[in-house]
Amino acid sequence: MKWRRVILLVWVLLVLSACARPVPTPTPEPTPPSAPTPTPPPSTQELKVHFIDVGQGDSILIDFGDNEMLIDGGDKSPGVVAYLADYVDGALEAMVATHPHTDHIGGLIAVLDAFEVEEIWLNGDTSTSKTFKDFMSRVNAEGASVYEAERGNSIALGVLSFLILHPVKPLVGDTNNNSIVLKLSYGNIDFLLTGDAEKEAEASILESGLTVQADILKVGHHGSRSSSSTQFLDAVEPEVAIYMAGEGNRYGHPHEETITALIEVGAEIYGTDIHGTIVLTTDGKAYTLHLEKQVPPCTPPVISPAPTPAPTALGASNVQITSIFYDGAVPRVESDEYVEITNLGTESQDLAGWMLKDISEGYPSFTFPHYILKPDAAIRVYTNEIHPEWGGFSFAYGKAIWNNTEPDIAALYNAQGQEVSRKSY
Ligand SMILES: [Zn+2]
Ligand SMILES: [Zn+2]
Repeated sequence: MKWRRVILLVWVLLVLSACARPVPTPTPEPTPPSAPTPTPPPSTQELKVHFIDVGQGDSILIDFGDNEMLIDGGDKSPGVVAYLADYVDGALEAMVATHPHTDHIGGLIAVLDAFEVEEIWLNGDTSTSKTFKDFMSRVNAEGASVYEAERGNSIALGVLSFLILHPVKPLVGDTNNNSIVLKLSYGNIDFLLTGDAEKEAEASILESGLTVQADILKVGHHGSRSSSSTQFLDAVEPEVAIYMAGEGNRYGHPHEETITALIEVGAEIYGTDIHGTIVLTTDGKAYTLHLEKQVPPCTPPVISPAPTPAPTALGASNVQITSIFYDGAVPRVESDEYVEITNLGTESQDLAGWMLKDISEGYPSFTFPHYILKPDAAIRVYTNEIHPEWGGFSFAYGKAIWNNTEPDIAALYNAQGQEVSRKSY
């Protein structure tokens, strides 16, 4: 095991140097020494953990011989069904939905359609989003054994056992802080998979006295500064930290504070935004990483977080907010409110990365997925629900957005963050 420590030291130096430089150097991926290593007894079964690049979202496949478990499925797009098809033998033995946010459960809908799933683990939290409703209807139709995760229980996968460190019941935190957090130990190698757990959940886990030390940490909440407290990272002491985030995501994930904290605790840092899909293979004694994109671990955060794009120079666009139909401050969940966006030009526009936002209150905001808005076509973004006859998107906000402040302005930003249109209700 000692050589791993040596490699780690070398890695730390590499990480530090890579992070100190403004531009990542094209260092080839360092390969473990090919020196004659004492080969362990061959009988140990191989465990593969796939951190699947799903853009902004989480999806982790545990592949252990004939047994597979999927933890989250990313958003509806791009989905993971095609990826899973190469690895899942027959049924998917277990599915874990860490919490009901769409970037975790959206992709599970198609997985439930495509595969027979034997066991489904939920955190017991709910959401008013259509995605959640669709997901739950598939869960209920699957005929699987459905369980609610609770601290102290465990999930079995073949001879593997995933200890549930979080959440506690009854649920107390917000959606992210109710995430299912799992600890997996295989031989000498420990994994900690944290969903979107933030500092509140981390503190609760530390308080419980459960052991969090792990060689491999799936960094909480896409590398957001809302997670990865110093106390937590000190207790985990990860050798490898993997965050899952979309390239150029609008949240600025991973945040610089998180990267700095992970470097300080001595972790090699990998991210799906820069390394693509990351596959860790272990026999329980040592592990190797396979990166889809050969980039050295850790790059300095390049995107400065810009959660509220200033209404900068107006970007010229024929895509405009053409109407806001409001319910006013109607205190009911099923708000019929919507904002209608029309392409008044003669060329199609892909709305991927475009954002619609209530700039009077500063929230909420909706970021469009890939969607082609044809000339003369309109698309609606509903406040809460989606009207199937109309199609469109939804903030899935659960209460009224428009006509509850004076003034109340909707602004539309293009993928470059430039405001292209604004309208008061
Ligand atoms: Zn998330
Ligand atoms: Zn979340």
